[in-house]
Amino acid sequence: MKIEQISEHVWRCSIWMIIPVNVWVVKSDEGLTLVDTGISMMAGGLQRCFRELNAPLKRILLTHGHSDHTGGIRKIREALPVPVYAHETEIPYMEGRLPYPGRKKAEHLTEPGLVQSIDSQIAAAAGLTVLHTPGHSPGHVAYFHEQDRVLLAGDLFTSKKGRLNRPMPMFTADMAQAVESGSVITEVNPRLVSVCHGGDVVITDAKQQYEAYARSAAGNSKP
Ligand SMILES: [Zn+2]
Ligand SMILES: [Zn+2]
Repeated sequence: MKIEQISEHVWRCSIWMIIPVNVWVVKSDEGLTLVDTGISMMAGGLQRCFRELNAPLKRILLTHGHSDHTGGIRKIREALPVPVYAHETEIPYMEGRLPYPGRKKAEHLTEPGLVQSIDSQIAAAAGLTVLHTPGHSPGHVAYFHEQDRVLLAGDLFTSKKGRLNRPMPMFTADMAQAVESGSVITEVNPRLVSVCHGGDVVITDAKQQYEAYARSAAGNSKP
């Protein structure tokens, strides 16, 4: 696993499985927060990362419930039984009580009752602001590190050649809504957008970069 510090408080941990899978470790005064868990084979590497950062893991925050984001929960919690949080809208889908929009079958991705509803206080303990960004999935959220001005965007975007790109269509419930949710960058004005599947995107002009992204996403959806 590749571990790279991307800002004062944020480390990006990555593996390559056909596509890159990135998760983040955020350090604050009281310990570490893991944002997404990736797939289960990342669990060992993540525990090495926690040891190297020499601080206790306090919690897991999820951007959404898809298996490439929740697949490491069980193994990590076997060693470190920390609480897990996601947006309340997402929980019935990840627990398999509802099928994700556009899917025929519900998927049992997390243990029922395990994942708790995130609120602003829980995110604030990690120095993060939680932003509801539906579209890729109904309860998708991004996390903004205010002090470092880094947006941990999950699957709100992918990236291509250093530019924002739309999330993978095959796994996106509502692309128009996902593109609309991307406008969050014009509100929080990050310095860096880090995505789960792709390299980081440096933001120099959020408004101009969002408009270019929305235009290219609209172009892509034409038959
Ligand atoms: Zn996803
Ligand atoms: Zn994903």
